[in-house]
Amino acid sequence: MPYEDVRVRFAPSPTGPLHIGSARTALFNYLFAKATGGKFILRIEDTDFERSKEEFTQNITTGLSWLGLSWDEFYKQSERISIYRGYLENLIEEGKAYPCFCSKEDLEAERQAMLSQGLAPKYSGKCRAILKEEAAKKVEAGDSYVIRFKTPETEVSFKDLIHGTIKFETAPIGDFVIARNFDQPLYQFAVVVDDMLMKINYVIRGDDHISNTPKQILIAKALGAETPHFAHIPMILNPDRSKMSKRFADTSLQDYIDKGYLSEAIVNFLALLGWHPQDDQEVMSMEEIIKKFDIARVQKGGAVFNSEKLDWFNTHYLSHLPDEKLLEEAKKFLPSEWNVNSKMLNSVKTRTKNLSELKEALAFYFELPEYPKDLLRWKEETNVRVAENLRETLKLLEDTEDDLFTEKALEAKIMFMLGEKSRGEWLWPLRVSLSGQKNSPGPFEMMEALGKAESVRRVQAGIRKAEE
Ligand code: GLU
Repeated sequence: MPYEDVRVRFAPSPTGPLHIGSARTALFNYLFAKATGGKFILRIEDTDFERSKEEFTQNITTGLSWLGLSWDEFYKQSERISIYRGYLENLIEEGKAYPCFCSKEDLEAERQAMLSQGLAPKYSGKCRAILKEEAAKKVEAGDSYVIRFKTPETEVSFKDLIHGTIKFETAPIGDFVIARNFDQPLYQFAVVVDDMLMKINYVIRGDDHISNTPKQILIAKALGAETPHFAHIPMILNPDRSKMSKRFADTSLQDYIDKGYLSEAIVNFLALLGWHPQDDQEVMSMEEIIKKFDIARVQKGGAVFNSEKLDWFNTHYLSHLPDEKLLEEAKKFLPSEWNVNSKMLNSVKTRTKNLSELKEALAFYFELPEYPKDLLRWKEETNVRVAENLRETLKLLEDTEDDLFTEKALEAKIMFMLGEKSRGEWLWPLRVSLSGQKNSPGPFEMMEALGKAESVRRVQAGIRKAEE
């Protein structure tokens, strides 16, 4: 199906930092816009003045930029209050909405009465009966009120791009509240006015919004607006298939940024949460994803958040970063006094899940850890033998010129020196004296990373330890 003049929006409420699931919603909108040559609009839904905070708007915009999701247009609902007010007045004027003066206590009593009769509670429609002019006077006089939508009893159906046709009976909905007052529209209303005015023709959002859709279609009809197409994307789930929560993984994008995940890894991982390309390719750049993205191929069922897979992607992208770039990214996570070099980074990167792990992985390069004498023994050799072997290697190191102190050259020289001898008996104590650790990168890589002077010092210290 050709998609024409696509206009999509990501419409977060700034009541918390950008959730990783919302980031995925934003990404799917962006991908769809880019794949169809359409426009991607960012709309901050901050009409809930109490819960919305500017710091969260900031967090959302910087998070989206970090992911590379640039928007074509930007709106803030709090700056559009007079627009919603106009439409509220019109609906009331046309008898499609009305002010309701029922008190909380009245509504609660009504609710209880319905429940006790075994009925699903809904508003009785009592204030529908108040004449327009009378209602206007009460509002003017300062009586407290909300604005309700006159829900027609009908059937609403829409064709969801992912779920197929979905039908709702509207009778059980009742006259729902669309504004707290003329200056405080609620989500259900503002979203429809904006989708109409911003000419949004595809609404891509989490499938927790399916139940809001019939209300929004009714409002759109009342406003005389065309209803957009809908694509409700699956929720992100914990491995036990419950709704994604902090119990299993970090939920805000910021946590991942702070831990040193790369945006390429996050984008690739999020794109595959609920979607995969026809050819099942896994590792994809943003450009490749855009080329392959097809909203109609998004799955219906929940998408399980697999942290190990994310780590795998991140290790992959870290390992493939150009040296300069890796160095630049890594430095943000390392003490400034560490004189880190690419050789060091390359020696640990394939075992690193994220940049914040680098500090621990690289620490031994900057301070040789204390280690027990016994660690220097590969198998059953005596300490005397260990010292002798290290001395032999030390001699070779001392004889190597600075500019030949490279992984390749050292490996060739040492392997030649070993000939038929047991590698473990020489290389194990060498590796331990260089790293002070049972597990570490290979000795040749480490020596190039450390340089001649430091490598020699460490081997000398190893000899002293073996001889203690
Ligand atoms: N502000 C709503 C939210 O954050 C937007 C939902 C929608 O996309 O319609 O959930």
